[in-house]
Amino acid sequence: MNIEKFEMLYEGKAKKIFKYNDEEVIIYFKDDVTAFNGIKKDSISGKGKINKKITTFFFELVEKEGIPTQFVKDLDENSFIAKKVEIIPLEVIVRNYTAGSFCKRYGVEKGIKLENPIVEFSLKDDSLGDPMICENVILSLNLVEKDVLEKLKEYALKINEILSKFLTEKNIILVDYKLEFGKYNDKILLADEISPDTCRFWDKDTMDSLDKDVYREEKGDLIDKYTEFLRRIDI
Ligand code: UDP
Repeated sequence: MNIEKFEMLYEGKAKKIFKYNDEEVIIYFKDDVTAFNGIKKDSISGKGKINKKITTFFFELVEKEGIPTQFVKDLDENSFIAKKVEIIPLEVIVRNYTAGSFCKRYGVEKGIKLENPIVEFSLKDDSLGDPMICENVILSLNLVEKDVLEKLKEYALKINEILSKFLTEKNIILVDYKLEFGKYNDKILLADEISPDTCRFWDKDTMDSLDKDVYREEKGDLIDKYTEFLRRIDI
């Protein structure tokens, strides 16, 4: 598939979006990887197709359990066709164990199981470094309406149940992850990606990372770990 014949609508750090038709876009997964808000960056051959495969699998898995997603159909190794949504400018972060910015912010050790899953929001704005934003501010700035905010939390927690159950059976801990949602004809759809770039996955026995922390913290070969994750989830 010569993707370049389509009109590119947007290029992000790890994906490109092309126009497919008036209602649909092509989401193309690049090999580029970045960390620390783009300060560290590389191109790692083969990453795009792994993340596309994992995203497609998880989107189909949650869709089967009643979460509407933007996924329409597969296109090729690096891309799929998706409904064209208007992205809600919030990152929805779900945490089951302490890690990353949560540890820094609250001065807690990494790897503590939280009493209950936590849903947090960040404002999607690279120039501000995606600052954390609370529900009052989201509503006061009219970023989304109250019923949409409630839906985002409901979907985020339902997705947490589906993914945690699936991964537990593979002896993998779902530590935390980031979701994005979009609006499509007044419906809220899960959008963007669910991949080792946007989740923390730990081996349950060794607590080793099978995700982008391998790159962030330079603790091994990213493709080796992502491939190991693929093998473990058996897709
Ligand atoms: N995350 C992401 N994109 C972002 C910020 C976070 O995909 O812009 C994911 C990250 O991979 C992790 C989770 O969201 O799985 C929580 O990230 P955290 O807030 O701890 O920030 P980080 O340590 O990644 O900077």
